[in-house]
Amino acid sequence: MLYSDLFGKTRHNPPCDADSINAKLLTQAGFIEKLAAGIYNLLPLGYRVFNKINKIIEEEMNAVGGQRLLMPALHPIDIWKVTGRDRTMDDILYRTHASGDKEFVFGPSHEETVTPLACKYIQSYKDLPLSVYQIQTKFRDEPRAKSGLLRGREFGMKDMYSFHVSEEDLDEYYEEVKQAYLNVYERCDLKTHVIEASGGPFSDKFSHEFSVETPIGEDTVIVCEKCGTAQNLEIAEGKVVDPDEKEEKELPLEEVDVERGFSVEDNAKAHNVPEYKILKSVVYNVEDEGLVGVVIRGDLNVSVVKLENYLKKRLRSASPEELEKMGLVQGYISPVNIPKNIKISFIGDHSIKNVKNFVTGANAHAKDYKNVNLARDFVVKDFTDLVEVKSGFECAKCDKPLKEIQAVEVGNIFKLGTKYSEAFELNYTDKDGKAKLVVMGCYGIGNTRLMGTIVEVYHDEKGMIWPLGVAPYHVHIVSLGNDKSVTDKSMKLYEDLKDSGVEALYDDRDESPGVKLNDADLIGIPLRLIVSKRTLENDSVEWKERSSDKVSDVKFADLAGKVKKFINK
Ligand code: ATP
Ligand code: MG
Repeated sequence: MLYSDLFGKTRHNPPCDADSINAKLLTQAGFIEKLAAGIYNLLPLGYRVFNKINKIIEEEMNAVGGQRLLMPALHPIDIWKVTGRDRTMDDILYRTHASGDKEFVFGPSHEETVTPLACKYIQSYKDLPLSVYQIQTKFRDEPRAKSGLLRGREFGMKDMYSFHVSEEDLDEYYEEVKQAYLNVYERCDLKTHVIEASGGPFSDKFSHEFSVETPIGEDTVIVCEKCGTAQNLEIAEGKVVDPDEKEEKELPLEEVDVERGFSVEDNAKAHNVPEYKILKSVVYNVEDEGLVGVVIRGDLNVSVVKLENYLKKRLRSASPEELEKMGLVQGYISPVNIPKNIKISFIGDHSIKNVKNFVTGANAHAKDYKNVNLARDFVVKDFTDLVEVKSGFECAKCDKPLKEIQAVEVGNIFKLGTKYSEAFELNYTDKDGKAKLVVMGCYGIGNTRLMGTIVEVYHDEKGMIWPLGVAPYHVHIVSLGNDKSVTDKSMKLYEDLKDSGVEALYDDRDESPGVKLNDADLIGIPLRLIVSKRTLENDSVEWKERSSDKVSDVKFADLAGKVKKFINK
C-alpha cells in the first residue's frame, strides 16, 4: 500500500478526549476513529490488524473442531424472556421496536439464539459433540464506555458454543478450548494469566478468564509469582497472616464511652490499637432473608461474591434506613450483647479466630467494648471464608506472598451445563433411546478489546510496536528526499517485496524526514527500511526494527533473504 493512497492518516496531535494509550495511539496513527462513546470506526490499518487477530482466532477454533457460522445481531425479545435474561441483563440490553409492536434486542451474547438453533439439528447422541462459533459484533449498553477499544458499547467478539452428551465430555473439550485460547494469545504475543473466576451467580463451577496485566486493566487479579496461580479478586483464596498472639491473655470485657468516626482507621486510632484488633461488623440485605451480619478482622474486607456463593442468594449492603429500622446503631454494630429484640444472625470469617481482645461497637451510640473475645463474649452462626484477598496474603497452594495486579479480561470460558438446554428444551436421545438434556459450554474472546490490549502492552513514547503476527504490514518503507534515484529505488523495493509476498507499506509522500520517521514510529510496523541518497551510495537500505534501537545497513543483494527470515521468525 502506498501511504499517499491510504485512507486514514496520522494526525499531529492525539484526540483531546482519548482516555487511554490505545485510544490515543490508534486514533493518532489513523487506525480507528471514534463515532460516539464506545463506538468506533476501524479504518483500513486498524481493520487489517483486526482481520489478522480474527484469522488467528479462526485457525485456532477450527483446530478444535469449531464450525464457523453467523447468527443475527437482532433478536426477538421472546427468546430472552425464555431465560429471564431480559430482566437479569436489562441494564445492558439495547432494545428496539420493529414495525408493529414487536420488540427486539441487539445481541449482547448469543446463548439465546444458538440454543434454539441447535434444537433444530441435534436429535440424537450421534449429532454430538458439536461446536459452532461466530465472529460478530455485540451490543451492550455499558454504563461507562471507556478506555478506547477496551470497553465499547458496540464491540467485536468471537463466541463459540459447544454441545455434549455429558459433563465429562464437556470437561474434556473445555480443556482443549482452554489450550486453543492460550495459543491465540501467544500468537498475539500476549502473556495471559488464566484465572479461576466465579461461574456466575451462586455457581459452584468455575469459569476461566484470560487476563493480560496492564495498568489500565479494570480487574484486580491476585497472582502468586511462585506457582503462577492467578485468581479473580472476587473469589480469590489465600491464607490470612495471623498476628502472633500466643502469649496474649484474654482480658475482662469493658464497656467504654468513645468519641470517634465510623471508619476502622478512626476506630483504631481512638482506642490506640492496630486495625486488625477492631472486630468489624458489616450488615447486608439478603434477598428473601432480610439483614445478615458478617464479622471480620478490621483490616480486612468482605468479598460480596463469596458471601453470595455461601448464602446462595443475591445481596447488597444494608442501607442506613434499614439498619435503623432494625434498631441497629450505624457505626456501633457488633454481635456482642446485641439486644434480644434485634433478630439478626452473624457469620464469622475465619480471620477472627486467632485474635484476642478485640475492640468493637456496643450497639449504642458512642459506646464501644474493649477486650472482646470470641466464644466468651459472642458467638457466630457459622464460620466460612469471606475475606477479600489482598497483597501480602499467602498463596493457598505454596505459602508464598500473593500480589495484586491490574489486568484486562481478553477472554472468558464457561461450563454452562444444562442451564440453556433446560430453558429451550434442548434434548438428545441417548443410546438407550432415553431423552437427555444436552450439556453446553461457551467461550468468548473480545477481539476488538484484544487489539486495544496489544497496544496497551506494546508501545513506547513514540508510538505503537506491533507484534509481527498482528501487525498491519510487515515492512514500512520510507524514502528520504525527492531524488529520483531514491524514489525509483524505493518503488522498486516496494514492488519486489510485494511480489515476494511481503506485506509492505511505502511512505511515498513528499514530506520531511522528521515527519516520515515520526509517523513510522507512531504506526509501529515491525520493520522499517529507509532508502536515501546515503544508503544508495552504499547500495543498501537502512534496517531498523521497531522493537530495537539498533540501526544497520543491509545490501540490496541480501535484503530479500533477510526480510523473509525476519517475517518468518
Ligand atoms: P467485563 O467483565 O469486562 O465487562 P464480561 O465478563 O461481561 O466483560 P463476557 O460476557 O465474558 O464479558 O464477554 C467475553 C469477552 O468479550 C470478554 O472476555 C471481553 O474480552 C469481551 N468484552 C466484554 N465486554 C466488552 C466490551 N464492553 N467492550 C469490548 N470487549 C468486551
Ligand atoms: Mg467475562
